[in-house]
Amino acid sequence: MSAVNVADNLEAVQAEIAAAARQARRRTGSVTLVAVTKTHDAHRIRPAIDAGHRVFGENRVQEAASKWPALRQEWDDLELHLVGALQTNKAVDAVTLFDVIESVDRPRLVNALAKAMARTGCRPKCFIQVNTGEEEQKAGCLPGDADDLIAGARSAGLDVAGLMCIPPFDEEPSSHFSLLAGIARRNGLEGLSMGMSADYATAIAHGATHVRVGTAIFGSRRS
Ligand SMILES: *Cc1c(COP(=O)(O)O)cnc(C)c1O
Repeated sequence: MSAVNVADNLEAVQAEIAAAARQARRRTGSVTLVAVTKTHDAHRIRPAIDAGHRVFGENRVQEAASKWPALRQEWDDLELHLVGALQTNKAVDAVTLFDVIESVDRPRLVNALAKAMARTGCRPKCFIQVNTGEEEQKAGCLPGDADDLIAGARSAGLDVAGLMCIPPFDEEPSSHFSLLAGIARRNGLEGLSMGMSADYATAIAHGATHVRVGTAIFGSRRS
Protein backbone atom coordinates (compact mmCIF):
# COMPACT_ATOMS: atom_id res chain seq x y z
CA MET A 1 0.00 0.00 0.00
CA SER A 2 1.34 3.41 -0.86
CA ALA A 3 1.75 5.86 1.98
CA VAL A 4 -0.90 8.54 2.05
CA ASN A 5 -0.28 11.58 4.17
CA VAL A 6 -3.80 12.76 4.87
CA ALA A 7 -2.77 15.83 6.87
CA ASP A 8 -0.42 17.04 4.11
CA ASN A 9 -3.01 16.38 1.41
CA LEU A 10 -5.66 18.20 3.40
CA GLU A 11 -3.41 21.21 3.79
CA ALA A 12 -2.66 21.25 0.06
CA VAL A 13 -6.36 21.05 -0.86
CA GLN A 14 -7.21 23.84 1.58
CA ALA A 15 -4.45 25.98 0.08
CA GLU A 16 -5.81 25.40 -3.41
CA ILE A 17 -9.32 26.25 -2.25
CA ALA A 18 -8.01 29.49 -0.76
CA ALA A 19 -6.15 30.31 -3.98
CA ALA A 20 -9.21 29.59 -6.14
CA ALA A 21 -11.40 31.71 -3.87
CA ARG A 22 -8.92 34.57 -3.96
CA GLN A 23 -8.77 34.41 -7.74
CA ALA A 24 -12.57 34.54 -7.89
CA ARG A 25 -12.51 37.49 -5.46
CA ARG A 26 -14.38 35.48 -2.88
CA ARG A 27 -13.67 35.00 0.80
CA THR A 28 -11.88 31.70 1.61
CA GLY A 29 -14.48 31.13 4.31
CA SER A 30 -17.24 31.16 1.69
CA VAL A 31 -16.18 27.69 0.50
CA THR A 32 -16.69 24.65 2.74
CA LEU A 33 -14.55 21.59 2.11
CA VAL A 34 -16.56 18.38 2.48
CA ALA A 35 -13.92 15.67 2.88
CA VAL A 36 -15.43 12.53 1.32
CA THR A 37 -14.41 9.43 3.28
CA LYS A 38 -16.35 6.66 1.54
CA THR A 39 -14.52 3.29 1.57
CA HIS A 40 -11.94 4.63 4.04
CA ASP A 41 -11.92 3.43 7.64
CA ALA A 42 -11.54 5.46 10.82
CA HIS A 43 -7.79 4.91 10.83
CA ARG A 44 -7.53 6.89 7.57
CA ILE A 45 -10.06 9.52 8.69
CA ARG A 46 -8.56 10.37 12.11
CA PRO A 47 -5.56 12.35 10.83
CA ALA A 48 -7.98 14.76 9.14
CA ILE A 49 -9.93 15.24 12.37
CA ASP A 50 -6.70 15.61 14.34
CA ALA A 51 -5.65 18.31 11.86
CA GLY A 52 -8.81 20.19 12.79
CA HIS A 53 -11.09 19.26 9.91
CA ARG A 54 -14.73 18.77 10.87
CA VAL A 55 -16.89 18.43 7.73
CA PHE A 56 -17.09 15.01 6.10
CA GLY A 57 -19.11 13.24 3.43
CA GLU A 58 -20.22 9.65 2.90
CA ASN A 59 -22.19 8.17 0.03
CA ARG A 60 -23.92 5.25 1.78
CA VAL A 61 -26.13 5.29 4.85
CA GLN A 62 -25.03 1.87 6.09
CA GLU A 63 -21.33 2.56 5.72
CA ALA A 64 -21.72 5.89 7.53
CA ALA A 65 -23.64 4.16 10.33
CA SER A 66 -20.74 1.76 10.85
CA LYS A 67 -18.07 4.46 11.20
CA TRP A 68 -19.39 7.81 12.37
CA PRO A 69 -21.34 7.24 15.60
CA ALA A 70 -18.08 6.14 17.30
CA LEU A 71 -16.19 9.15 15.95
CA ARG A 72 -18.99 11.46 17.03
CA GLN A 73 -18.62 10.10 20.57
CA GLU A 74 -15.11 11.49 20.57
CA TRP A 75 -15.79 14.75 18.74
CA ASP A 76 -19.10 16.48 19.22
CA ASP A 77 -18.61 19.11 16.53
CA LEU A 78 -18.39 16.93 13.42
CA GLU A 79 -20.67 17.73 10.47
CA LEU A 80 -21.62 14.79 8.27
CA HIS A 81 -23.01 15.09 4.74
CA LEU A 82 -24.76 12.37 2.73
CA VAL A 83 -23.57 12.76 -0.87
CA GLY A 84 -24.85 9.47 -2.32
CA ALA A 85 -28.22 8.23 -3.51
CA LEU A 86 -30.80 7.66 -0.79
CA GLN A 87 -33.56 5.04 -0.77
CA THR A 88 -36.84 6.06 0.84
CA ASN A 89 -36.69 3.12 3.28
CA LYS A 90 -33.46 4.54 4.72
CA ALA A 91 -34.88 8.03 5.31
CA VAL A 92 -35.16 7.62 9.11
CA ASP A 93 -31.57 6.40 9.39
CA ALA A 94 -30.39 9.21 7.11
CA VAL A 95 -32.03 12.05 9.04
CA THR A 96 -30.68 10.74 12.34
CA LEU A 97 -27.12 10.19 11.05
CA PHE A 98 -26.50 13.17 8.81
CA ASP A 99 -26.42 16.93 9.34
CA VAL A 100 -26.84 17.59 5.63
CA ILE A 101 -28.47 15.45 2.93
CA GLU A 102 -27.15 16.52 -0.46
CA SER A 103 -28.95 13.97 -2.63
CA VAL A 104 -32.65 14.89 -2.49
CA ASP A 105 -33.80 14.24 -6.05
CA ARG A 106 -37.45 13.17 -6.27
CA PRO A 107 -40.87 13.93 -4.76
CA ARG A 108 -41.19 10.49 -3.11
CA LEU A 109 -37.91 11.05 -1.29
CA VAL A 110 -39.04 14.54 -0.22
CA ASN A 111 -42.15 12.96 1.32
CA ALA A 112 -40.19 10.18 3.02
CA LEU A 113 -37.73 12.71 4.47
CA ALA A 114 -40.52 14.99 5.71
CA LYS A 115 -42.12 12.02 7.49
CA ALA A 116 -38.79 10.86 8.91
CA MET A 117 -38.09 14.35 10.22
CA ALA A 118 -41.50 14.57 11.87
CA ARG A 119 -40.99 11.18 13.47
CA THR A 120 -37.47 11.74 14.77
CA GLY A 121 -37.31 15.48 15.34
CA CYS A 122 -34.05 15.52 13.37
CA ARG A 123 -33.97 18.20 10.69
CA PRO A 124 -30.85 18.00 8.54
CA LYS A 125 -30.33 20.67 5.89
CA CYS A 126 -31.09 19.46 2.37
CA PHE A 127 -29.58 20.04 -1.05
CA ILE A 128 -31.52 19.19 -4.19
CA GLN A 129 -29.39 17.09 -6.54
CA VAL A 130 -29.70 18.03 -10.21
CA ASN A 131 -28.65 15.71 -13.03
CA THR A 132 -27.21 18.55 -15.11
CA GLY A 133 -25.95 16.22 -17.84
CA GLU A 134 -29.33 14.45 -18.07
CA GLU A 135 -27.49 11.15 -17.87
CA GLU A 136 -29.74 8.12 -17.82
CA GLN A 137 -27.93 6.19 -15.08
CA LYS A 138 -27.26 9.14 -12.82
CA ALA A 139 -29.20 10.30 -9.77
CA GLY A 140 -30.60 13.80 -9.56
CA CYS A 141 -33.70 15.46 -10.95
CA LEU A 142 -33.71 16.76 -14.50
CA PRO A 143 -32.86 20.47 -14.76
CA GLY A 144 -36.37 21.13 -16.08
CA ASP A 145 -37.91 19.56 -12.97
CA ALA A 146 -35.71 21.37 -10.46
CA ASP A 147 -37.92 24.42 -9.80
CA ASP A 148 -40.93 22.22 -8.98
CA LEU A 149 -38.90 19.90 -6.78
CA ILE A 150 -37.39 22.81 -4.86
CA ALA A 151 -40.85 24.31 -4.32
CA GLY A 152 -42.23 20.91 -3.27
CA ALA A 153 -39.39 20.33 -0.82
CA ARG A 154 -39.90 23.75 0.70
CA SER A 155 -43.63 23.31 1.10
CA ALA A 156 -43.06 19.89 2.69
CA GLY A 157 -41.04 21.74 5.34
CA LEU A 158 -37.55 20.66 4.32
CA ASP A 159 -34.75 23.12 5.06
CA VAL A 160 -33.53 23.52 1.48
CA ALA A 161 -30.04 25.01 1.63
CA GLY A 162 -28.89 24.63 -1.95
CA LEU A 163 -28.24 22.44 -4.98
CA MET A 164 -25.77 19.68 -5.77
CA CYS A 165 -24.52 18.20 -9.05
CA ILE A 166 -22.07 15.63 -10.38
CA PRO A 167 -21.21 16.57 -13.98
CA PRO A 168 -20.59 13.83 -16.58
CA PHE A 169 -17.06 12.44 -16.22
CA ASP A 170 -16.14 12.99 -19.84
CA GLU A 171 -17.28 16.58 -20.23
CA GLU A 172 -15.81 19.94 -19.37
CA PRO A 173 -17.65 20.74 -16.12
CA SER A 174 -18.00 24.54 -16.46
CA SER A 175 -21.32 24.57 -18.30
CA HIS A 176 -22.77 22.17 -15.70
CA PHE A 177 -21.58 24.35 -12.85
CA SER A 178 -23.08 27.47 -14.40
CA LEU A 179 -26.35 25.67 -15.15
CA LEU A 180 -26.59 24.68 -11.47
CA ALA A 181 -25.70 28.20 -10.33
CA GLY A 182 -28.46 29.62 -12.54
CA ILE A 183 -31.11 27.29 -11.10
CA ALA A 184 -29.98 28.24 -7.58
CA ARG A 185 -30.08 31.95 -8.35
CA ARG A 186 -33.61 31.98 -9.74
CA ASN A 187 -34.81 29.98 -6.73
CA GLY A 188 -33.10 32.14 -4.14
CA LEU A 189 -30.78 29.37 -2.96
CA GLU A 190 -27.30 30.16 -1.65
CA GLY A 191 -25.74 26.71 -1.38
CA LEU A 192 -23.93 25.20 -4.36
CA SER A 193 -22.29 21.81 -3.78
CA MET A 194 -20.17 21.19 -6.85
CA GLY A 195 -16.60 20.23 -7.62
CA MET A 196 -14.66 17.07 -6.74
CA SER A 197 -10.93 16.21 -6.68
CA ALA A 198 -10.44 16.90 -10.38
CA ASP A 199 -12.37 20.13 -10.76
CA TYR A 200 -12.99 21.88 -7.45
CA ALA A 201 -11.01 24.99 -8.42
CA THR A 202 -13.21 25.39 -11.51
CA ALA A 203 -16.31 24.90 -9.36
CA ILE A 204 -15.17 27.64 -6.98
CA ALA A 205 -14.76 29.99 -9.94
CA HIS A 206 -18.42 29.26 -10.72
CA GLY A 207 -19.61 29.97 -7.19
CA ALA A 208 -19.36 26.63 -5.34
CA THR A 209 -20.05 27.03 -1.61
CA HIS A 210 -19.26 23.35 -0.94
CA VAL A 211 -16.66 21.22 -2.70
CA ARG A 212 -16.68 17.45 -2.14
CA VAL A 213 -13.15 16.08 -2.23
CA GLY A 214 -12.14 12.47 -1.56
CA THR A 215 -9.22 11.10 -3.55
CA ALA A 216 -7.05 14.23 -3.32
CA ILE A 217 -7.15 13.93 0.48
CA PHE A 218 -7.46 10.25 1.33
CA GLY A 219 -5.89 8.60 -1.71
CA SER A 220 -7.44 6.26 -4.22
CA ARG A 221 -10.29 3.91 -3.33
CA ARG A 222 -10.09 0.18 -3.76
CA SER A 223 -13.69 -0.50 -4.71
C1 LIG B 1 -16.90 10.02 -4.10
C2 LIG B 1 -17.63 11.29 -4.28
C3 LIG B 1 -16.95 12.52 -4.28
C4 LIG B 1 -15.44 12.63 -4.14
O1 LIG B 1 -14.85 12.25 -5.33
P1 LIG B 1 -13.26 12.36 -5.56
O2 LIG B 1 -13.10 12.35 -7.03
O3 LIG B 1 -12.65 11.19 -4.88
O4 LIG B 1 -12.82 13.65 -4.96
C5 LIG B 1 -17.70 13.66 -4.45
N1 LIG B 1 -19.05 13.62 -4.59
C6 LIG B 1 -19.71 12.47 -4.59
C7 LIG B 1 -21.20 12.49 -4.76
C8 LIG B 1 -19.05 11.26 -4.44
O5 LIG B 1 -19.74 10.11 -4.46
